[in-house]
Amino acid sequence: TMILGIETSCDETAAAVVENGTKIRSNVVASQIQSHKRFGGVVPEVASRHHVEQFTLVCEKALEDAKATWSDLDAIAVTQGPGLVGALLIGVNGAKALSLAHGLPLVPVHHITGHIYANRLAGNMQFPLIALIVSGGHTELIYMKEHGSYEIIGATRDDAAGEAFDKVARTLDLPYPGGPEIDRLAKAGEPNIKLPRAWLEPDSYDFSFSGLKSAVINTVHNAKQRGKTVDKADLAASFQESVVDVLVTKTMNAAKAYHVRQVLVAGGVAANQGLRSSMAKACEEADMPLSIPPFSLCTDNAAMIAAAGTIGFLKGTSADMALNGKPGLNIEEF
Ligand code: ATP
Ligand code: MG
Ligand code: FE
Repeated sequence: TMILGIETSCDETAAAVVENGTKIRSNVVASQIQSHKRFGGVVPEVASRHHVEQFTLVCEKALEDAKATWSDLDAIAVTQGPGLVGALLIGVNGAKALSLAHGLPLVPVHHITGHIYANRLAGNMQFPLIALIVSGGHTELIYMKEHGSYEIIGATRDDAAGEAFDKVARTLDLPYPGGPEIDRLAKAGEPNIKLPRAWLEPDSYDFSFSGLKSAVINTVHNAKQRGKTVDKADLAASFQESVVDVLVTKTMNAAKAYHVRQVLVAGGVAANQGLRSSMAKACEEADMPLSIPPFSLCTDNAAMIAAAGTIGFLKGTSADMALNGKPGLNIEEF
């Protein structure tokens, strides 16, 4: 199967061609980071306008890079949600137009299943598995007993992990997006500042990062009031360690309790060096196979949407011209 994937849920306009759900033939990402940087975050209206400008260009480039024609394709997979409504609409309506024009089936994809299936582009998925989703808008532990089956066993009660990284970065005057900046800075620092870890109730697989975020903000403000400065690198390292500690511990607890055959990590924060190395260490100690996508497939891209779309296509999932973007699409009902 040859699938064209399309992703426009946030601030990346992306198109990619994937063969058999595993082999990337092309992967085109037009990032809008430069446009949003001066606002310190994604401006939805600006994002939509960029998607309109880039949509046709990235789709054509994806086919060209893949050395494929429209008749080589079996289907078009598009992110239906969750995401920014105006941004989703560009991708969904563009995909509908292409589907109609070229007589190709249209497969709706849940963005987070895309992040999960980025792992299939890099290796095997072994079921049952526990997936730790850590992205800009989501932090979840998901139990998958087979392809296309998602049970949320834990989720954040406030900020997402990526959101916490971005907010803490802003407190430290680092540019948007803050995750990679904190990651870089943390390497130069020591985790010697005491910060809280929200374990919540024993046995809970939920997360909470807003208390930690406030603790970081307070640490900076208190120092400022006393005419002192905090070592940014040490604070970044301490913050990152606190986030990673909770993520890794809860994931490993879930992996044991659910007797899974694999731990999988997905989403933009899966690019974090601290998380990657701690998770690798914990999995090695527990003799648990681990899957994390390569860096380039952690943040938003369309290859992951095509990979997830391939599973949907093979299951017979398809949409008609009534398909609409859904900002709050639920993965369990998907
Ligand atoms: P969602 O997937 O939940 O809809 P999104 O698509 O906006 O949200 P992603 O593209 O998956 O988010 O990931 C972006 C997030 O990942 C940002 O919050 C960014 O700061 C974070 N991120 C990227 N690289 C790193 C890193 N190396 N360390 C920590 N966080 C990172
Ligand atoms: Mg993005
Ligand atoms: Fe994402």
